[in-house]
Amino acid sequence: MNRRGEFRVSVTKDYLVFASAHFITFAGHRCEGLHGHNYRARVTIEGALDETSWFVYDFVALKHTMRDLCDAIDHKVLLPLENPKIQVVEDGDFVRVAYEGKPRYVFPRGDCALLPVPNTTVEMLAELLTDRLRVELDRSGAHGLTAIEMEVEENFGQSAVYRVGLP
Ligand SMILES: [Zn+2]
Repeated sequence: MNRRGEFRVSVTKDYLVFASAHFITFAGHRCEGLHGHNYRARVTIEGALDETSWFVYDFVALKHTMRDLCDAIDHKVLLPLENPKIQVVEDGDFVRVAYEGKPRYVFPRGDCALLPVPNTTVEMLAELLTDRLRVELDRSGAHGLTAIEMEVEENFGQSAVYRVGLP
């Protein structure tokens, strides 16, 4: 067969959700109050067909990995570690959070996900999940993949998509 087209596979499942709390900062001196979303993730990966299995990537493995990534931040307070206005300090079994130097929250450490992002927007969460998925794909020996596209929705019809080409 002379195959000229390209393939992509997508996974979006009821369990690719994470119910998490967060707040974001805006330009100037605005900072949201703590609130939550039922986030939903959808991933698409593109690449060459594996010509022994005739798929781009194993759906079962992709679903399993995505589920683990979502579970890791499910039922957590998502806190950004790279936001210059938000100070996140681990203190024994607690995490102390200040906004522009003023104490704002104290959470149990186990209820927090400390994330290497500047703000917990859906854009940054999509990029973070993509980075984490990429590590897992590399670890699983995936080959021939050309791109990952990750969508994170925080409300119905309100989502961000991050796409990265793979070298
Ligand atoms: Zn929000």
